[in-house]
Amino acid sequence: MLNDECIFCKIVKGEIPSNKIYEDDDFMVMLDIAPASKGHAVILPKYHAENIFTLPDEYLEKVLKVARKCSAAMMEVLKCDGVNVLQNNGEAAGQTVFHYHMHLIPRFNGDNVGICWKPGTADGNDELAAKIREAIK
Ligand code: AMP
Ligand code: ZN
Repeated sequence: MLNDECIFCKIVKGEIPSNKIYEDDDFMVMLDIAPASKGHAVILPKYHAENIFTLPDEYLEKVLKVARKCSAAMMEVLKCDGVNVLQNNGEAAGQTVFHYHMHLIPRFNGDNVGICWKPGTADGNDELAAKIREAIK
């Protein structure tokens, strides 16, 4: 269930200190050590799975409720104007710790937190949508 080599598993077990803000039977939530903005938090399942593809359904089904509960408290305490709820899978997507986690990033009007992309073109989307539809099981 937990992995001796994994830094987030060690945090879950209390072997590495953290600024915990929430805990239940399945998750713990801590403040990020290198926050993108004040109050940036990370939700960790108490189960070692590398990413969204291997995390068991029982955790996936619950994680957004934890995100909402914690974000609501963060909005109240930080008086932030919004919050990004996001999650990276794979190095190409920016994942650096390979234990599934979900980021809660408080946002303040006019802040310079760089979560953005340049809008591209939708060329080929008709065919692509059809292919993905077929691949979904
Ligand atoms: P990601 O890039 O999506 O894999 O996110 C990993 C996050 O974990 C980064 O935002 C790191 O700053 C954060 N992080 C890594 N080690 C720790 C730690 N010991 N305590 C708190 N946050 C950490
Ligand atoms: Zn782990």
